[in-house]
Order: sequence, then C-alpha cells, then structure tokens
Amino acid sequence: MDQDIPQGQPQQPVHCPSCLQELHLDERQLFLSDPETNNMVPWDPGSEPNQMRRQDQLNRAFLKCPNDQPDRHFLPVPYLMFGKPMTIAFVGQSGTGKTHLLAAIMAEIGRGGLDSLGIRCRSVNTSQHHEFLARAVNQLEAGRVLPATRPTDFVEFTDALLITVNGQTRPVAFFDIAGESLHLPGKATEFLLGVDALVFVVDALRALRLKQLSLAREVAGVQPHTAGLADPTFSAVLDRLPRDGGLCDVPTVIVLNKCDVLRFEPPIDQWLREDGRPKSAPDPNEVYRESQDVFAFLTHHQATPWLRPFMECRRCTLHFVSATGMSPAVAPAVNGGSPASGSPTAFVGGIRPRRVLGPLLSVFQMWGLLDTPVSAPRLREV
Ligand SMILES: [Zn+2]
Repeated sequence: MDQDIPQGQPQQPVHCPSCLQELHLDERQLFLSDPETNNMVPWDPGSEPNQMRRQDQLNRAFLKCPNDQPDRHFLPVPYLMFGKPMTIAFVGQSGTGKTHLLAAIMAEIGRGGLDSLGIRCRSVNTSQHHEFLARAVNQLEAGRVLPATRPTDFVEFTDALLITVNGQTRPVAFFDIAGESLHLPGKATEFLLGVDALVFVVDALRALRLKQLSLAREVAGVQPHTAGLADPTFSAVLDRLPRDGGLCDVPTVIVLNKCDVLRFEPPIDQWLREDGRPKSAPDPNEVYRESQDVFAFLTHHQATPWLRPFMECRRCTLHFVSATGMSPAVAPAVNGGSPASGSPTAFVGGIRPRRVLGPLLSVFQMWGLLDTPVSAPRLREV
C-alpha cells in the first residue's frame, strides 16, 4: 500500500489524540464509514484493484485505534500520513463562546483568510469537516446561536485540517470540549497530556465586573453574582499539565472573547478598529503589544484569575477577540405571534467576527510553522 500513501510514512510515531496510544498504519484495521448507516465497515485496500479508486478510498478511510478503552474509536487515515499531527484544545466553561470561536475561525479559513500568508488548508476527512460546517459554521453564518457542546465521557477532536505552509503539510486537530468534561478525571481527559497548544477562552461577561456589562450579562443569562469568579476549567486543565522547571511548555494563548461588548473601552476600541485579514505573519512586536494590553486590561479590572495560564506557561500570548462581533438576542416573533422568550437564539443582522485568526497564527508561530518566531512575553517584561 506504500505507493498509495500521499507523502510517505510518518518519520516519528503518531499517537492517538484521544487516548495517546501509539498508532501504526495496520491495513487489517482500516474501515470506511457507511454513508447510509454511519456505521464503520471493515475495508481491505487489496479489495480495490483500481489504483485511483483505492487512493480515494484510502483518503476517506479510518484506522481503528488499538486501544478500545473506554470506547472504540477511529482516526482518519490522512491524519497519520503527514508527520507529527498537532492538536489544539479550546478551554473554558460552558457559555464562554469556544464553539463560536472555533466556528468563526473555520469560517474565516474557508473564506481564504490565510491565503495571503501562503497557508493552504484542506480537510483531513471530508465527511467530518462537512459535518462540522453543517452543524456549526453554516449555522453561525446564518446568524444562529450555537448550542452548548455536549459533555462526553470520551473526548475526540471536533475537526481537523491539513495545513500546508512553506511547502510542508501537517495535520492540525481542534478539540472543542464541553467545560463539564474538562473536570472529569482519568481517561476522559487523558488527551490533555498530549495536547500541543491550548486556547484559554475568557468570557468578558463573566470575567469583568464592569457595570456597563449588566444588560449584556442579563441578555446572555450570566448571573451577576458569578461575574469575577474564576473559571474552574482553567484550573482543571492547568493542574493536569506536565511541568518543567515549574512551567508548562505547551504553547498557550489567552483569548479575551466577546470584546464587542467592550468596543468603546480603550485600548480595545483601537485593537478592534485594526481588524483586517492578515496579510503577513503577525509582527512579534504587535503580538507583544497586544499581549501587554490584554494583561493590563484584565489586571486593571481585577480579572487576574484568568491570567493563570500566562503565569504558568512558558510561552503564552494574549488576544482581544470577538468571535461573532455582536451579542445575540432573543429571536423575534414569527408571523406576528408573541416574541420568543428564553435564551438568546439569534445574531440579528448576521455576525462580524473580529481578530479570530490572531490566536491561531500565534500558535502557528510558537510551533515554528511560520517564518517569524513569536517572542511570547513573560510576566517580568509586561
Ligand atoms: Zn485512541
């Protein structure tokens, strides 16, 4: 089957992103998803004599992870074919906007947001990617509020892309995990031990006690007495990470999300005005300046518990972001009936994501994928 493999066997062992099991491409453990039943059906590459059809089937095939505890799970074959995959996990309690942020990032990438940097993206598995597009990206672009990610006992990545930059292709997988799942001990969150980057999502409505956010908190259903209380998922994740010299080596970004509610607050007003599709790799000086401003803003407003990742991770940048560009509202009345009530369900007038690619590019820089290395600030330098 070697002649069918896109770019040769990986040079170093690839581990299952969910359970950390070492993986080998065993032809006897390949499966295809049945489009009618969604069941995994064993597939023998030797059963397809036509080389082009076999290649196409291989690109759609899955490898069964040999570790079936606690659940049987599968990895797309292209995830194993391009060197060491990289994984990014989004961290934050339910309602902080993790899914909206990931969907907004995918939407921007889909619109060619990384093209001017010479970065090419395609899906690791077309079906999985289209499922996320249908479930999240397309819904968000239609102005709908996305439902909270369901808690699960076993964590698998939400979507994955093959990223080609400077002629090299790497798989990048994104974990969007329910906040409740991040508290689970043992196997459910084992993947955290192997994760390659962390995106800590700070909800401006929960982290800041600013009085002018009262109405936005009320609409979002955030209880006023919870504003300013630390996000327990941050601690749950940080306490689990391996340390070297007291610090975590995993590249980390802190995203102050929902910045649209702070769009008149300096210096956020300036950063939101500077939004635009990136034309080159982020300037390390700009990344440093933005990190300083986020750090100073959160510190000034007594939101220091959300800075814990910065204190405990060797490489950490900070970013002002709004995944949707506006707050959602309760859906308007339909056909002259009574207005709907309850949780907000719609972004009336559509969404306008702000600065959502900055955190991803910062992670790419910290991984060394881009030409310009990022000089992540340390506390003493801020
Ligand atoms: Zn596994």
